[in-house]
Amino acid sequence: LPEPGSPYRVVLLGASGVGKTAFTSIFAGAADSMDSDYSELCGDEVCEKDIEVDGEPATLTLFDTWDTETDSDWAQERHMQTGDAYLLLYSVTDRASFLRASELRITLRRLRPAQHTPIILVGNKCDLVRRREVSVSEGRACAAVFDCKFIETSAAMQHNVWEAFNGIVRQLRLRRDSK
Ligand code: GDP
Repeated sequence: LPEPGSPYRVVLLGASGVGKTAFTSIFAGAADSMDSDYSELCGDEVCEKDIEVDGEPATLTLFDTWDTETDSDWAQERHMQTGDAYLLLYSVTDRASFLRASELRITLRRLRPAQHTPIILVGNKCDLVRRREVSVSEGRACAAVFDCKFIETSAAMQHNVWEAFNGIVRQLRLRRDSK
């Protein structure tokens, strides 16, 4: 884990089209509503910013550069080792992306065997009710098997996206405090 006060590195993983870019935009966009002393450093690939969770400040660096389908295995594995925590996204309207999330979870476990890395399985696009292919209970069961948290979100409706980011910060703090 990073030193207290240094940024937490949070990596967005998932098949293409699941909403990683939409998550990044929401994360980047929130600066507007914050105090004037926020620091923000957002490019195409990384976005760093100060947020507040449960009354305590935290700095997050969000990584969303990687197309996990077209990158080489080597590049992909390198990216998967850079995070302190991971949001593992799938779309509830796309069963293939759900299976992809399971594969990514297994790869993560192989790459970081001994570490209790905070991971949240995120079922995005829950606003698309009639196109749903993955039920809430399937998502929850998958998270239980993989020993990670679970949340459904809608980036389009800005529903639960910040809950996911805040949840990651809470998990990182729990790990930090248990050391
Ligand atoms: P990425 O490839 O993982 O970065 O996915 P994008 O963020 O580019 O999203 C792919 C498409 O899905 C875009 O057209 C988004 O507008 C749309 N999208 C993303 N999140 C949601 C969501 O929660 N609900 C709906 N209805 N569409 C979404």
